[in-house]
Amino acid sequence: MSGAEKYRALKGMRDVLPPEIDLWHRVEQTAAAVFETYGFREIRTPIAESTALFTRGIGEGTDIVEKEMYTFEDKGGRSISLRPEGTASAVRCYIENQLHTLPSPQKYYYSGPMFRYERPQSGRFRQFYQIGVEAFGSASPVLDAELLSMLRQLLVRLGLPELNVQINSIGCEACRPTYKKVLLEFLEGSRDGFCPDCQRRYMSNPLRILDCKVERCVGLRQGAPRITDHLCEDCRTHFTTLQTLLSKLEIPFVVNHEMVRGLDYYTRTAFEVTSGNLGAQNAVAAGGRYDRLVKECGGPDVPAVGFALGMERIAGLLKQLSSAETGGPMVFIAAMGEYALYEGLRIAEKLRSEGIWVETGDSAASLKSQMRKADRLASEYVVILGEDELTAGEFTWKRLKDGSDGRAPLAGIGPFFAERMVSSRKRVNVVE
Ligand code: ATP
Ligand code: MG
Repeated sequence: MSGAEKYRALKGMRDVLPPEIDLWHRVEQTAAAVFETYGFREIRTPIAESTALFTRGIGEGTDIVEKEMYTFEDKGGRSISLRPEGTASAVRCYIENQLHTLPSPQKYYYSGPMFRYERPQSGRFRQFYQIGVEAFGSASPVLDAELLSMLRQLLVRLGLPELNVQINSIGCEACRPTYKKVLLEFLEGSRDGFCPDCQRRYMSNPLRILDCKVERCVGLRQGAPRITDHLCEDCRTHFTTLQTLLSKLEIPFVVNHEMVRGLDYYTRTAFEVTSGNLGAQNAVAAGGRYDRLVKECGGPDVPAVGFALGMERIAGLLKQLSSAETGGPMVFIAAMGEYALYEGLRIAEKLRSEGIWVETGDSAASLKSQMRKADRLASEYVVILGEDELTAGEFTWKRLKDGSDGRAPLAGIGPFFAERMVSSRKRVNVVE
């Protein structure tokens, strides 16, 4: 074997680098800020759980459990899986830590990597990131509406108000079996024409056939009975109340009768947020109500509702919006000679402590070469510190973009740049 092996990231897994990571930070920080105003607190759960939690929670017949999980045996012979989504882990955490003993509803959010062995394509990865929220302890549609309102606020604050919100109700254990029967009767004749996935779904998860994207499946299910025409009294009231609440809150939505989430645990409300600018993988967020899952996983009978956002897809949309500006440091300090070097470093520390991005040049190099470096870094301002400036207690500044320059007292250098930051986007750690 040769020593020159090339290592590459695993298929469907990727590095996230600057400047894309800036968009990720923006999404994470904005999400945390919005969620906390609704009383959601962060939890961090392990990325691996026992396989049984997912097979039980997400459901044996789902695409995720049937073919997408990263499952392996650990050295102790236990079957463990990398989490394919966050809800099952959140439910396990809720039960294990007895969070149901706290006042309801309990509201939590989380973010981190999820793993699904899917066919990688644009917007679809094997390791991808989600930000998710889960609210436990209320069956009221008011909570569903609040979650959708929170999601909308987040999207508006990120500058994505034009996204489409689709909602549906997929009923409960009382009415869904009846609908399943009606649907199977309708689909029976065209069964052989479906894609291989839907042929499997016909047996294991027939509702999923409703949102298959394969063209011939779309055609074959034309005119299929609608679940909303088969809801029981309680589910119907829940769904109409939710729609009234959304209208009152002025949240735009459409009812999509064919939207069925790919996880078994959903009851009643299901929703999805899609974008016209993402091609085939157009869902940026999805969620719904899961009133039976906590009990199903061994906890008390507690209803819940949640959603998850796909980080790569949101970042992809933000990238389309953002200008091509690369963004360099706010200030580049070009110090001339040893004494200026010390003064320059002190100033750099002071400005950084005020949240300003500062880079420093090589004080042994010529001013010309330091200016060249400042320019390569796309610096906004250069601060020049030479003997002349230091004797006068001043600094020379140059703005590279428009060539303007001047001198100002060193004592006021903090406020000088803080003021100029207002119109600049170079402040570090500030949520816009
Ligand atoms: P899709 O229909 O796109 O497969 P899903 O129904 O499997 O989505 P959920 O499990 O509800 O999605 O996850 C919520 C969000 O996470 C999705 O709306 C999407 O933005 C994102 N997501 C899901 N799977 C992937 C993946 N493999 N790669 C990147 N993002 C994903
Ligand atoms: Mg999927």
